[in-house]
Amino acid sequence: MALRRIVIVGGGISGLTVAYHLTRGPRPPRVTVLEAGSAPGGWVGSAAIAGYRVDTGPEALLARMPAVQALLADLGLDEARRAPQGSAFIWARGALRPLPQSSVFGVPNKLMPLLRSGLVGPLGVLRAGADLVLPRPRRLPPDPTIAQVLLPRFGSQVFANMIEPLLGGVHAGDARRLSVRSAVPEVAAAVSGRRSIYLALRGREPRTGSGPALIGFEGGIEQLVSAVAQAVRAVPSAEIRCGTRVSRLDPLSPGGYRVTIEHGAELLADDVVLAVPAPVAAALLAETAPDAAAAAAAIPHIGVATLVLAYAPSQIANPLAGTGFLVPPADGRLLVGCTWLTSKWAHLRPADGAPEKVLIRCMVGRDGQQSWQDLDDEALLAAVRRELAESMGIHEPPEAVSIRRMPGAMPQYVAGHADRVAAIDAALVQRPGLHVIGSSFRGVGMASCITHAGLLAARMTSSITAPNTTPSPDSPVVAHRGTR
Ligand SMILES: Cc1cc2nc3c(=O)[nH]c(=O)nc-3n(C[C@H](O)[C@H](O)[C@H](O)COP(=O)(O)OP(=O)(O)OC[C@H]3O[C@@H](n4cnc5c(N)ncnc54)[C@H](O)[C@@H]3O)c2cc1C
Repeated sequence: MALRRIVIVGGGISGLTVAYHLTRGPRPPRVTVLEAGSAPGGWVGSAAIAGYRVDTGPEALLARMPAVQALLADLGLDEARRAPQGSAFIWARGALRPLPQSSVFGVPNKLMPLLRSGLVGPLGVLRAGADLVLPRPRRLPPDPTIAQVLLPRFGSQVFANMIEPLLGGVHAGDARRLSVRSAVPEVAAAVSGRRSIYLALRGREPRTGSGPALIGFEGGIEQLVSAVAQAVRAVPSAEIRCGTRVSRLDPLSPGGYRVTIEHGAELLADDVVLAVPAPVAAALLAETAPDAAAAAAAIPHIGVATLVLAYAPSQIANPLAGTGFLVPPADGRLLVGCTWLTSKWAHLRPADGAPEKVLIRCMVGRDGQQSWQDLDDEALLAAVRRELAESMGIHEPPEAVSIRRMPGAMPQYVAGHADRVAAIDAALVQRPGLHVIGSSFRGVGMASCITHAGLLAARMTSSITAPNTTPSPDSPVVAHRGTR
């Protein structure tokens, strides 16, 4: 029987991980990953600056998820894992203030550490404590926002100075738009049916004994992408083609799909996995699954940029004793967060002492604050430097700068997100062998991408025993069309 042909559109961590799992068995299918960019990885990326290589996209991975642990072990990456050092601050009430250790996703679960942090004033702490005595909230909408659930319980100070900046760091989102169920399912699950959110979360102390929750890699997150890509490429029936942008997808009769690549080449496939951002998926699904396309098109995305600044240690008076800081959106700053890279990651420092350079990574751009896109690099840097001067007292110019702009990088799981994903699933039932995956849909972080990619690959593998239906599936599958 001819090998089944699977085309994966998009070589970010989601598409690569699907390809990885599909190609593990003794008789793997033909798997072709089509990636528009010049290298696999999607938003995972790095820049060389002042003799260092640093992550410009994701830099930390939620390592406690079983699928992540299994993947790292399979790839032999356990040794390369590195734990971040220190804890985070929030730039609030005119100073950098430590984020209380006792909080879960920015929601306080103890009041004394909150008071000591200075993040909110005494009245704010009292107001947060009201959650203990307030009656159970009534009549929330079917898919409430984070603000609708948490603001009435904890009051405006905790909301503005803890909950919103933490969400900014993870989602670049607006808590008044994000769905609590889709954006922070852990909080939604913990508080479901409970009267006091504070008490519900008190039972959720950070787990110990299973290693750090977040990890990076010596050599950056690209190590992970490279290892997955290398494992896929090592399988004779698999390939990753970069610089290959898919422009169209059509169903074939009686089954299978035609995948059209920009400039006219075509591939025929039994199964297609769209592992691309929702707007791209929407365009590709427009003819083949219009209802799924409409639902995908309704998932908003916003742009972010990262700026890495390198300083001589003598230029920085601030001790940078932590991982960095987050910025409440209510303060109207451009900065969303700032990572003190050479403090956070020991592998960026020599074993025996202080780093030769101090590396600071700044992120700008969040839902409702996209004005950075109107600034050229020079103006963007100047604006960021003004805020670094105000928050950290750094007035001198950096010795080197690297700027990466990422328009449309961050999906926003706004209220109604789960319904949109359910609508995509329902529409695709009519299109056997066609799948949609990626951070736009079921989890914005890499760990969720890895988890869902594994689940999808398992489902596909179990259906691969079915005979293929694609016309001439094993013959050369690339045909060139003159024009489109
Ligand atoms: C600045 C930033 C910081 C982040 N930090 C973290 C972090 O610390 N930890 C964490 O867990 N997550 C973080 N994330 C989120 C993380 O990057 C994403 O969850 C993850 O990279 C998404 O992977 P993906 O494969 O689903 O999508 P993508 O990375 O978007 O990959 C999709 C791929 O599809 C390709 N593509 C698009 N259109 C086409 C087409 N027509 N044809 C072929 N290919 C196409 C793209 O080139 C891309 O390679 C961060 C994101 C950003 C932007």
